[in-house]
Amino acid sequence: MNEYDSNRIYDIAKKINYKKTKNIEHADCYILNTCHIREKATDKVYHDIGRLKKIFKGKKKPIVIITGCVAQAEGDILLKNEKYIDAILGPQSYHLLYETLSNIEKKINKLNFTEFDVNEKFDNLNSIKNSCNDVSSFLTVQEGCNKFCKFCVVPYTRGPEFSRSIDELFNECNDLVKNGVKEITLLGQNVNAYYHQGNKLSKLIEKISSIKKLERIRYTTSHPLDFTEDLIEAHKNFKKLMPHIHLPIQSGSDKILKQMNRKHTTKEYLDIIYKLKKNNSEIKFSSDFIIGYPGETDKDFEETLKLLNEVKYINSYSFIFSPRPGTPSANMAKVDYNVAKERLVIFQRIAEEIKINYRKSLFNKIGSVLFENRMKNNLDFFGRDQFSNSIVVKTNKNLKGKIKSVKITGGNQNTLFGEIDDVPEKEIFAA
Ligand code: SF4
Repeated sequence: MNEYDSNRIYDIAKKINYKKTKNIEHADCYILNTCHIREKATDKVYHDIGRLKKIFKGKKKPIVIITGCVAQAEGDILLKNEKYIDAILGPQSYHLLYETLSNIEKKINKLNFTEFDVNEKFDNLNSIKNSCNDVSSFLTVQEGCNKFCKFCVVPYTRGPEFSRSIDELFNECNDLVKNGVKEITLLGQNVNAYYHQGNKLSKLIEKISSIKKLERIRYTTSHPLDFTEDLIEAHKNFKKLMPHIHLPIQSGSDKILKQMNRKHTTKEYLDIIYKLKKNNSEIKFSSDFIIGYPGETDKDFEETLKLLNEVKYINSYSFIFSPRPGTPSANMAKVDYNVAKERLVIFQRIAEEIKINYRKSLFNKIGSVLFENRMKNNLDFFGRDQFSNSIVVKTNKNLKGKIKSVKITGGNQNTLFGEIDDVPEKEIFAA
């Protein structure tokens, strides 16, 4: 979501005659868009500003604005501790960039905008065209969260759930496609909680599916509680919807899920997976896991491994529990760090084995790849298949924005290698 926000912040800045510079020394204004989801986020801000001070030592300092969730959560402290910062803009206030810059230029007091007025933000943004012209683009459709998982800062930094109107999203999709975008990933902290005047995420998918030159649709991140039947059906009905779903579960133990306030059980989660697979057997899943959550016993951990082996995620993102200040689980008794570390190693070894076996199963098969950009070495072209796997082929042709069938010839942990295959698109089968 920060990538989408950064692009939109740039769209606003461009309107008031700022241009991007690749050379930091030329910057008149430096905007640091921050994320608060991991530990030491605030330290990173101070570190970055220290670097900036060195670069501008003895020169006129640029205007420095901190945006994003660190700004939201710790804006007052940042402004107090770091005089180099001129303004703070929370994630729901970045539409005030113009006002902020002109106030700074007029030397009005330091500014701290951290209201939760999402309506006003998107009303303002709607009048500014989204200029993203990448092959694949993000599109924020929903923000905020009402779920209050005990470990998570999002409800405090992004505020309550808010969904944009289906018409405004359709218009923004159209603009993106006119810019040359072929794939859109619908974004939300709880994307499948999308709901606007009776329209759910499945309706939005149906509506944007009608945009002729839009080839692929994805969405992330979903919560199991909001995975309703209509969304499950959408994976049968809309061919543009890609068969890869990121569906976080965090733990395979019902006891821990309850303690996390996840509001669902492993059985309910697995039921969604099986229903989706029944509708579309190609679908693959990825997920997030917290290892060593307060109260996690060896038995709870075994249940997480059982789930991992059952679903066979093509990607698993796992971390040792890291307490976020201000969240309920920050005050809970922690699992011994060495025990948690040991469990993480075991988890990641199994997750990696599953991933390697999956990737090997793709060798000599043919995938459908949407190509995005030429790689820095000038020899290779980069794209992604239906399951978001990174694929690289050697070619001197410009494949940007094209969908080609690619025979997978090899790969490593992160990238698959392939060659363009001349099988007609309709004969492609998914690996
Ligand atoms: S549902 Fe997701 S965003 Fe909301 S509180 Fe839980 S982890 Fe955070």
